[in-house]
Amino acid sequence: MNIIMLGAQGTGKGTVAGFISQEMGWPQISTGDIFRKNISEKTELGIIADSYISKGNLVPDEITVPIVKKRLAEDDAKNGVILDGFPRTIAQAEKLDEILAEVGKKVDLVINLVTPKEEIIERMLTRRVCTNQECKATYNTKLHPPKVEGICDKCGAPLKQRDDDKDPEAINRRLELYEEKTSPLIEFYKQKGVLRTETVSVAINHLGKDVADEVVRDIRGN
Ligand code: ADP
Ligand code: ZN
Repeated sequence: MNIIMLGAQGTGKGTVAGFISQEMGWPQISTGDIFRKNISEKTELGIIADSYISKGNLVPDEITVPIVKKRLAEDDAKNGVILDGFPRTIAQAEKLDEILAEVGKKVDLVINLVTPKEEIIERMLTRRVCTNQECKATYNTKLHPPKVEGICDKCGAPLKQRDDDKDPEAINRRLELYEEKTSPLIEFYKQKGVLRTETVSVAINHLGKDVADEVVRDIRGN
């Protein structure tokens, strides 16, 4: 089953994707994680990607689409994937349909996460990520803290704050970009009949883990 996570930054896409991935055994494919791994390893791709990401801009499709295509062709992706951070534009969504159609697949489910804006900013400032690039678990110092402060539960590596989560200007730029470029995808997938919208909010006590549990239950029930 091919699942896409939609939702603004800080809605918990990575958290939901991670839980579903663990439960179903399908890989979580995050373009942001792929870029960050390359940036930390200073690969050619990483250097180019960083010049866009550090300013809060999108990495061009000529770079992003082939990376996703290659990743989807890997063996562990054959039964299903959870895409987190791709597609981000209508153009990318159309490309993804083409890539999947070539191998007789399609987008089966799009989980659209909605969170009140005041909670979003708070969450981005309290987000922490595992520094181990093979692990990349995400935490939140308030909502989903690690058992030991500053240490990853899964692998024991230190946690850190992402550079683009520290800078309020970059945060705002990303939220604006989301509204402009990514939110049209909601309508795109609604028309295809695969959209599932879920509110993630402390105010209603409905968090990423709850959404993941409900989705997994529904997938297994099918
Ligand atoms: P966030 O959703 O919090 O911005 P991500 O980890 O998804 O973080 O992505 C980090 C950055 O990587 C984005 O701000 C963007 O610059 C770049 N990026 C990730 N995915 C894509 C994509 N599908 N297309 C273009 N750029 C991307
Ligand atoms: Zn870890």
